Amino acid sequence: AETSHTQKIVTYTPELSNALNQRVSMIKALKLAIANNELVPFFQPQLDLNTGELVGAEVLLRWIKPDGTLVPPFTFIPLAEASGLILPIGKLVLEQACQLNKQWQDKGFKPFRVAVNVSGVQFDQDNIVDEVSNALTLSGLEPKWLELEVTETALMADINEIIAKLSQLRELGIELAIDDFGTGYSSLNYLKRLPINRLKIDQSFVRNVIDNEDDQAIIEMILNLGKSMKLSVLAEGVEGPAEEAFLKSMNCDEVQGYYYAKPMPTSDFEVYLQSINKA
Ligand code: C2E
Ligand code: CA
Ligand code: CA
Ligand code: CA
Repeated sequence: AETSHTQKIVTYTPELSNALNQRVSMIKALKLAIANNELVPFFQPQLDLNTGELVGAEVLLRWIKPDGTLVPPFTFIPLAEASGLILPIGKLVLEQACQLNKQWQDKGFKPFRVAVNVSGVQFDQDNIVDEVSNALTLSGLEPKWLELEVTETALMADINEIIAKLSQLRELGIELAIDDFGTGYSSLNYLKRLPINRLKIDQSFVRNVIDNEDDQAIIEMILNLGKSMKLSVLAEGVEGPAEEAFLKSMNCDEVQGYYYAKPMPTSDFEVYLQSINKA
């Protein structure tokens, strides 16, 4: 046993330190990316399904490297969360989102919410409420035009603490949505106690809704839940007219997805805003 133990160390150390080195250099690169403004917000429209009007825009972060390479969030957000870098990143996204939304209103575009993803790590912080409050004050954005998206799994800690924090956020006047709804394990009893405004149906249910009766049943259930709890329900990942038709037949409130628009950089999003504000 002694020998194999030693052997293990000899065999695995180089690989381990390789993996570690890679992580360390990724974290360094991410730090530099923050300093060099390589993390940029993209915006994806959220529409009222009844009227087709723009009601919100979700901020989706992209890492654009100096050579133009676009790094998708699933590769760097987990690393940012594990290293704690999600805290400065999250603060930046929040501030930029509020500032840009205020600027769009000042330019005369019809007001809509800006929806910012808040990681569980960020939500667990004691000063998240101050951070949101500061972003609002700095930008001058009216609180009702800011929404935070928090995942169901981020809300799985001590319920009293979570309710207290969500209530403080709601008292600021902002809106709260539960993201990826249906993929976590919140009980209805739990959900009932949360001071939230909106449920976002996870795209995994929307994707196959045409062929999959289970997904149809789940979506119908979430919509009924929303109705009885007086919560607005948004379906994300809508990619085509058949999905839209199903959601319409079920009286879903809001939609978001490639069928309407992909996430766009600020400049393209402004062109989009101009086009819908003229129409
Ligand atoms: P999410 O919050 O669930 O965001 C929805 C994802 O679905 C986005 O991926 C969006 O681009 C994509 N999407 C939208 N419509 C469609 C569609 O019709 N079909 C398909 N297949 N996909 C669609 P994205 O931008 O790659 O972001 C992935 C995840 O990264 C997000 O999932 C979110 O969890 C995280 N993320 C992105 N930006 C931020 C951020 O600023 N902060 C934090 N904490 N997380 C972020
Ligand atoms: Ca989201
Ligand atoms: Ca989501
Ligand atoms: Ca997700």
